[in-house]
Amino acid sequence: MSSKISSDRSSAPETIVATAGHFLDLHGGGVTPVINPSTTFARDDQYRPLNAAHVYGRDDNPGYVIAERILAELEHGSECRLFSSGMAAIAAVFQTLEPGHVVVLPRSMYWGVTQWTRNFCQRFDVTALYYDPADAETISDCLAGYERAEIVWVETPANPMMQVTDIQRAADIAHAHQAQLVVDNTTATPVFTRPLILGADMVVHSATKSLNGHSDVLAGAVITAEDGERWRRLCADRHDAGAVPGSFESWLLVRGLRTLFVRVERASANALSIARYLSEQPQVESVLYPGLESHPAHLLATRQMTGGFGSLLSFQVRGGKREALAVAGALQTIISATSLGGVETLIEHRHSVEPPETNVPENLLRLAVGIEHLDDLLNDLKQALNVVHLS
Ligand SMILES: *Cc1c(COP(=O)(O)O)cnc(C)c1O
Repeated sequence: MSSKISSDRSSAPETIVATAGHFLDLHGGGVTPVINPSTTFARDDQYRPLNAAHVYGRDDNPGYVIAERILAELEHGSECRLFSSGMAAIAAVFQTLEPGHVVVLPRSMYWGVTQWTRNFCQRFDVTALYYDPADAETISDCLAGYERAEIVWVETPANPMMQVTDIQRAADIAHAHQAQLVVDNTTATPVFTRPLILGADMVVHSATKSLNGHSDVLAGAVITAEDGERWRRLCADRHDAGAVPGSFESWLLVRGLRTLFVRVERASANALSIARYLSEQPQVESVLYPGLESHPAHLLATRQMTGGFGSLLSFQVRGGKREALAVAGALQTIISATSLGGVETLIEHRHSVEPPETNVPENLLRLAVGIEHLDDLLNDLKQALNVVHLS
C-alpha cells in the first residue's frame, strides 16, 4: 500500500494524526479511507491471492493496517498490532510466557489487569512478584534472588491511585535482569509520554479510552520497539487466536485519532484546573493528580510527561463511602459511569466495583475529565460538594 504516512517521517505527531489514513483510497480518491468489511479475499485462477497482503479477515484487514501504522509512529515503535480490546492486547502479551517464567507487576493498577494476571499466573505456573508503583527501586528489591525475569509491567500514572513510576529507571532494572519492560500507556497517552523513547520495549493501550476518545469503540493495541521473539509469539497469538477488532471499529479508531491532541490537551488542562479547585474545597480531604505540586511524584511527572499530566484524577471526600456516593449522585453534567479518555466527564466510585480486598479507599472518587467547558464542570462539582455537611 503506498502511503504518505510512513514515508513522511519528519511530520510532527499532531500532523501524523490529523492526516491519519488520508490518500489511501486509490480507487475512489477519497480523502478519508474506505471501510473494507470483507472477511475473505479472492484468489486468481492459479489460486494466488489477488492482493498478497490479504487472505482472510482474522489474519488482518486493510483497515487495521492504517491504525497500526499511525500508532507505531506515534509511539516511536517499529510495529503495532491492533486487538479487539485493551484486555485482549494485554492478554496477548502475557500469553507469550511459559510455565516457570517470572513477571514483576505493580501492586496497584487498572483492576482488570490485576485480576486477569493474578488468575493467569496462578493457572499457568508463572511467578508474579509485586512492586510499589510509587518507587521503581522496589522492582529491584522484588528481583533479588531471581536470576532473570521475562516481563516488568508499568502503568503510569496508575489507575486510580495515580502513582507515577519512573519508566527510565524501571527499564534499566528490567534490562539488568534480561526482562522486557512493558508500559500500559493508556492513562498518559502518547501525547504526554513516549515510553519506548524512555527505554521500554513494548507499549500497550486500551484504545477504547483516549486514542478513540468518543466512548464508542472497544479496541486495544500493542506497539513494539523491536521485532524479537516475544513480538513474533504475540503476532502468532493474534493471528491464530483471533482477538481482532472489526473493520468498522478500526475505521472509527482512525477517525477518533485525528483529534487526539486537541482532545487530550483540552481534557488535561481541564483536569489540572479541576484538581486545583478541588484541593481548595473544605469537603475534599485530598486530591491525587501528578500535576499538583503536592503530589509526591510531581517532579518526576514533570520530567517524564511532556506538556500535561493527563485527564484522570482521583479525590477523597471528607467522610466515608456515604459522602462520596452522595457527591457522585448529586452531579448533573458529570456522568456516573466507568471508563476514561472520552470527550465527556465521568465519575466513578471504584470501591463499589472492586472486590472487598481492594486497597482503594471508600471515600475515593475517580474523575475521568472530558472536554466540556471548564466552568460547567466546576459549577457541577461545586453544587455536588455542597451536599456534604461539614461538622
Ligand atoms: C480500560 C483499561 C484497560 C482495559 O482496556 P479495555 O479496552 O477495557 O479492554 C487496560 N488498562 C488501562 C489502564 C485501562 O484504563
